[in-house]
Amino acid sequence: MTPTAPDATRRPAPILAIGSVALDSVETPHGGAEEVIGGSAVFFCAAASLYTGVRVVAVVGDDYPLGELGFLEARGVDLGGVVQLPGESFFWAGRYHEGFRRRETLVTRLGVFASFDPLVPSAWRDSPLVFLGNIDPVLQLRVLDQVRSPGLVAADTMNYWIDGAREALLAVLARLDVLFVNDEEAMQLAGGADLGRAARWIRDRGPALVVVKRGEDGAVLFGSGWTLHCPGHPVGRVVDPTGAGDAFAGGFLGFLAGRRSWGRDEMAGALAHGAATGSYAVEAFSIERFRGLSREDVASRAALIAGARRRAGVGGQAEMWTGGQE
Ligand code: AMP
Repeated sequence: MTPTAPDATRRPAPILAIGSVALDSVETPHGGAEEVIGGSAVFFCAAASLYTGVRVVAVVGDDYPLGELGFLEARGVDLGGVVQLPGESFFWAGRYHEGFRRRETLVTRLGVFASFDPLVPSAWRDSPLVFLGNIDPVLQLRVLDQVRSPGLVAADTMNYWIDGAREALLAVLARLDVLFVNDEEAMQLAGGADLGRAARWIRDRGPALVVVKRGEDGAVLFGSGWTLHCPGHPVGRVVDPTGAGDAFAGGFLGFLAGRRSWGRDEMAGALAHGAATGSYAVEAFSIERFRGLSREDVASRAALIAGARRRAGVGGQAEMWTGGQE
């Protein structure tokens, strides 16, 4: 599929998002956090709401501290599609090892997500951008079935679903414009090829654009006949990498929501903004780093990232594109 930018409007387009709204327990070599707010939809909103309104479809249990999402609501996140049901919220526990390169999932409990049947409120079915955050691809499909010809559909996923729900995930791929994955997930999905070939394999199954996130090494965007590399932003001290991928997607799509065309220059900007919002996520546990953050803060970090790429000797922004990888 090829994404189509919303028609000329001065207001950024709203984004419809589904994903986990979770409680996370995280262990790192330098400390940890117990049952803090997290989940793919929450990290996505923390970043995307710096750019535009976000409409969230999800479910939480009766143990969820919804009040802690108040600052996101104040920033334009509409939780009108978040249902609270009796039972346990999605719970995830993970451990990072020295250097933060490796993450081990200790616990994934779907809780009320196990029987969730997402309902997109009728006023949201025309949303111009849709983000299918990391969650069961069966739920991602049910949301897609309820929206009417969105201009751009993007999704994220992870090893848990690549292993456990492959068929449904392939059905999601066929309906995507953009897939966000990290390098390991790309290889896992495509069956072990090198990164370029894995991206090609994925693109052949649907999404015109594949964004491969590479942690502190930045990200690579694979398009049709071109590849764009973007460096990571070196943060002073990594506290907790959880949610960086979702925050990356939030900055990337949030940036595009405010543009009137989606050509290569816009994609270059989106990549730098994604790298910026992703880097903020790692500076604190949960979504804490986003509380005091402004749009200007993010824009200046994104400018630093784009500048770092230029200083690396590739000239102007247009030359961030290195063609002919396919
Ligand atoms: P990331 O670090 O970008 O992969 O995102 C981590 C977030 O995803 C955490 O807040 C978890 O609650 C959430 N998460 C972890 N595993 C899953 C899963 N299998 N499905 C949906 N969300 C998950």
